[in-house]
Amino acid sequence: IEIIGAPIFNERNMLKGAVLLLYDITHLKKLELMRKDFVANVSHELKTPITSITGFAETLLNGAMNDKKTLHSFLTIIYDESYRLQGLIEDLLTLSELEKDNFKLAKTTVHMDKLTGEIIPIIQHRAEQKGINMEMNVQEGITLQGDRERIKQVVINLLTNAINYSPENGEVILTVFDETEYVHVSVSDNGIGIDQAVIPRIFERFYRVDKARSRNTGGTGLGLAIVKHIVEVHDGHISVESEPDNGSTFHVYLPK
Ligand code: ADP
Repeated sequence: IEIIGAPIFNERNMLKGAVLLLYDITHLKKLELMRKDFVANVSHELKTPITSITGFAETLLNGAMNDKKTLHSFLTIIYDESYRLQGLIEDLLTLSELEKDNFKLAKTTVHMDKLTGEIIPIIQHRAEQKGINMEMNVQEGITLQGDRERIKQVVINLLTNAINYSPENGEVILTVFDETEYVHVSVSDNGIGIDQAVIPRIFERFYRVDKARSRNTGGTGLGLAIVKHIVEVHDGHISVESEPDNGSTFHVYLPK
């Protein structure tokens, strides 16, 4: 609380009383802390790959590139880290786009079966690498009014997470069903699951249950923040059922 006070004098300049103004600045302080936190997080996330890129490039330039094996392995690191940076910057731009005051959805009639069909080739490679069995259970002919590209991103992000947080040879199931007013999209995995206590936090920007694991899978820590944002600007909602070691199911409800 911020307090501002001032004395009140009478006409003979004698102290008569005082006024005290009490401002509740909890909310403002919270916003300010969140902003500082975000800037610190972004800076850290950008710095880590850049440090690695400059370090490996410098070592190569100082002579290490004469060894073919070293050259190949260092270039692979430089490529991977640049790729990570690109993903991070894309996610940051998406979030800032979604948060603009004048942000508008490009709504059209979205055919959900066509949309999910387009997603398979995008994530198949990653699923195959891990030997994950993908099951699609998509009701035919469902449509909704929404922003096609944004909805596609929601499904891609949820499926990518389901694959990333699953063991080798795991199982990931996507279902899309018509529920009168809503289209219900769910993504299930039999992966590591999420502790009940942290479920509300996973939608925060840069929150990760296990930083090292998320980093290894190439995650930016922004995927679910983007998902939640997109679902909410469509007036939909999202919920999670999960149990540690027993997998997770993300439910998205989008109004038709
Ligand atoms: P990341 O890039 O780290 O995956 P997200 O915003 O997509 O970022 O997810 C935030 C965190 O939520 C992840 O780091 C992970 O700890 C947890 N998480 C997300 N999806 C799953 C899932 N299907 N199973 C287990 N944990 C998950």
